Amino acid sequence: MTPIIVLEENTANKIAAGEVVERPASVVKEMVENSLDAGATSIDIEIREGGKEYLRVVDNGRGIPPEEVPLAFERHATSKIRSADDLFRIITLGFRGEALPSIAAVSDLEMVTRTQGAPAATLIAFSGGKRTRLESVGSPLGTAVTVQRLFFNTPARYKFLNQAASERRHVYDIVGRLALANPRVRFRLVSDGEEIMVTPGDGNMEAVMWSIYGSRIGKHLIPVHRESSLAAVNGYICKPEIHRGNRQAQTFIINGRIVESSLLANAMEKGYQTMLPRRRYPIGVLALTLDPSRIDVNVHPTKREIRFSDSSEVYKQVLVAVRQALEASTPFEPWHIPAQQDESPERSSWSRALRSAGGPGFVQETMEAGDSGWRAAPAMPPIRPDRPTRSEPGHTWEPAGTSTLSPPEGSAAQAKARESDETGFPGQPAMFRILGQFRATYILVEAEDELWLIDQHAAHERILYERFLTGLQSRAIKTQALLVPMNLELGPAAAAAVLEWSSAFEELGFEVAAFGSKDCLVRSVPVDLSGIGGKDLEELLLGVINQGQTKDYREPALILMACKGAVKAGEELSPALMQELVTSLLSTRNPFTCPHGRPVIVRLALEDLHRRFGRS
Ligand code: ADP
Ligand code: MG
Repeated sequence: MTPIIVLEENTANKIAAGEVVERPASVVKEMVENSLDAGATSIDIEIREGGKEYLRVVDNGRGIPPEEVPLAFERHATSKIRSADDLFRIITLGFRGEALPSIAAVSDLEMVTRTQGAPAATLIAFSGGKRTRLESVGSPLGTAVTVQRLFFNTPARYKFLNQAASERRHVYDIVGRLALANPRVRFRLVSDGEEIMVTPGDGNMEAVMWSIYGSRIGKHLIPVHRESSLAAVNGYICKPEIHRGNRQAQTFIINGRIVESSLLANAMEKGYQTMLPRRRYPIGVLALTLDPSRIDVNVHPTKREIRFSDSSEVYKQVLVAVRQALEASTPFEPWHIPAQQDESPERSSWSRALRSAGGPGFVQETMEAGDSGWRAAPAMPPIRPDRPTRSEPGHTWEPAGTSTLSPPEGSAAQAKARESDETGFPGQPAMFRILGQFRATYILVEAEDELWLIDQHAAHERILYERFLTGLQSRAIKTQALLVPMNLELGPAAAAAVLEWSSAFEELGFEVAAFGSKDCLVRSVPVDLSGIGGKDLEELLLGVINQGQTKDYREPALILMACKGAVKAGEELSPALMQELVTSLLSTRNPFTCPHGRPVIVRLALEDLHRRFGRS
């Protein structure tokens, strides 16, 4: 048997490197965190070939005194904690004293560092863990670390590195997050000579979001701010019309530390309620401030995960913070209901009107002479001017790791993938014009420089859902007595259930009564459902009871009601009704998604059409 031995230090360091350093991005993270811990206010990061061959981090922090420089490269050498007790009140980012020796063990590393007052800087260099230089040199205050040939002596690890493009994205991703977590620090990232990102370092987190994501996302940010005895939650999230197919554009920060937390991600998503389509994820940054004794950061070697002592409270705080931010951001005019609807009881049943109206599919035919067909869109959220604009280096910064299948960086395909990934919406149109109806299912709309395809059923569902929701919230869903009460033959069990639920139905705008022992009589229904047929009504009532068995019936009830009340695909709509539909849709809080989470609007940009026709 092989005897047990204590590993030679360099071997131990190589093993530790496997835990701390997976790829160039992890080196960048460790180095930048050291710079932050050293009080730097300005950090420059430069990479070449995704950092595989060369990466350099330069800071203006306090530096390392000459006599301590060699020590910094010894295992478990740290200036940040003194005993295990300190682990419970960690305020610095590093604390294990592992990064420098581990990285030095698997690369060519050079550090030049100078403290205030020291006449000269110290240069120390390692190759594969062996010290090759230690001398005094001239250099400005602060520390510069250069790492070249990462993993040159650990071929197995080197093999695991991806193409430069993918490693580059990982670096962009981590630097973006670090910049978000440290808005008071100026970050500059250069990749293969090209400036990718510069942040102002003036403490403005919104400006950092602009620097990272550009105007597409920057224009649609909503501030989040909530304080409670447990936690402060601050940050920026994106309006619900902008979302992603993954969680890459979410950053969570706890006490200045970037964390990965499905708890926080779930809380943020829940805060958006029904506003996002299924399997789409919000974009944003949330920074939490908590008593450090309530969290445990020492869970994972790279400190990405975190444990909370009261996770359900944290979850709730984040959810509420997000929800309140979204609510506050919508200049919420309670229902833009077309004027005629209030005036005439007949017209007030909008869905019935929609149903009975047939007519030609093209607006111009019914327009007065000289009417261009253009309509002003209803209230649109103001877009604040004078935001910092990004120096456009020709691409929007895309966080890393989106997918291993993503098209090559900078390619047209990638730009396109990004377009379709964010159903981002550069503001509602000021004007729109109905072009017609396609296959009696989609409404075509000219909205400034875009062609919109609107799913008429989904659009109407969204409108009705919101109208019912406000009605329910103010306990005033408008009802209408049926001329002839509807008799539903349900059988004794279902009839009894409906009766048992009659007060819930009343709240929802339905008046139901017993009729014999196995039938139900429906005397009135919500105005917006006055055209509903017996079969739909039966499905609706039983559906509400069914869903209400396991959870609050209200939300599913409203969704069902919206679905039953909405125009169906295949129904021809008159131009005036399409006009009304689109106008109402645009004044909903979330015109982009139906209550089931399906998209309502598909948008084609003029630019894209031009491109497809080979015009540009
Ligand atoms: P840790 O950050 O866990 O303490 P590291 O191996 O990353 O361990 O760094 C070891 C020590 O080197 C740090 O505790 C710190 O004192 C010093 N150090 C490293 N990088 C810098 C820097 N950029 N500026 C000042 N001191 C640094
Ligand atoms: Mg460190």
